[in-house]
Amino acid sequence: MIVVERIAELRERCDLARRTGSTVGLVPTMGFFHDGHLSLMRAAHANHDLVVTTIFVNPLQFAESEDLDSYPRDLAADTAAAEAAGVDVLFTPSVPEMYPEPTVTTVHVAALTEGLCGATRPTHFDGVTTVVAKLFSIVGQCTAYFGRKDFQQLAVVRRMAADLDLPVEVVGCPLVREQDGVAMSSRNAYLSAEERERARGLFAGLRAAAATVENGERDPDPVRAVLESETARHGLELEYAEIRTAADLTPVAELDGEVVVAVAAPVGQARLIDNVTMQIAGAEVSVDLGVVTLATQGSTN
Ligand code: AMP
Repeated sequence: MIVVERIAELRERCDLARRTGSTVGLVPTMGFFHDGHLSLMRAAHANHDLVVTTIFVNPLQFAESEDLDSYPRDLAADTAAAEAAGVDVLFTPSVPEMYPEPTVTTVHVAALTEGLCGATRPTHFDGVTTVVAKLFSIVGQCTAYFGRKDFQQLAVVRRMAADLDLPVEVVGCPLVREQDGVAMSSRNAYLSAEERERARGLFAGLRAAAATVENGERDPDPVRAVLESETARHGLELEYAEIRTAADLTPVAELDGEVVVAVAAPVGQARLIDNVTMQIAGAEVSVDLGVVTLATQGSTN
């Protein structure tokens, strides 16, 4: 594996790989790797000749009040973990390399960014789509792997790539959970033992909501009520609890087809998000709760 810091060098390596018949898999991240990140790299490694992972804590997607300065970082551990996961090129640009001038061009995806996390983080997705568009432009034709943990982000990036005819296939990968059900996140590092215990309430609430649907409920209001009461029982105050269509994140009047139940909650210094997706056809319900990791969080950093 080689570590690359310059845009021009990354572009050249990707162009050269394609000229010699190789396919390129891309995994954009903000680093501080856990098994969720590594699962994307392993998927890319299984399907592509050249795997590029990027680590860039993108200032554009953090609001003034957010945790840009304290965001956890550990480049040495990330480098070792990426290499073990089959990454060929680790791209770690500096902020001036990515933004040599103050940004005057941003990529904005409307509608999909308006509710859910966009409601409390109104500038967040513009920061994400702008940096991901830059990465797609630098890397060129490739398949890009994103986690379903950030369900809205995946939908937004997929739509951006389609609308702008970017030569990138966007692939969504399973949400990876800790053994106790908590969704893996770099921000879990902020949690005290007591907060960590409370964080388990998110998955407990989502599981209870899914069970309600499996038992035949198709009205979103009672499903949401179960989610809210179960998370409240764990001492959580939700930022949102929403049920949307999985494809375009529109609110649903009745549960049918593929839907996502998504939640966000502040827990101590962290803001945690989680979701489950369900495929509903008549009485048939298939619930996707994600996958449980074999590793323990912290073992890679
Ligand atoms: P981040 O470093 O948090 O920006 O995440 C980089 C990529 O890893 C994004 O595509 C995330 O959706 C994905 N990711 C983060 N946490 C998880 C998780 N627990 N399971 C699956 N993918 C994840």
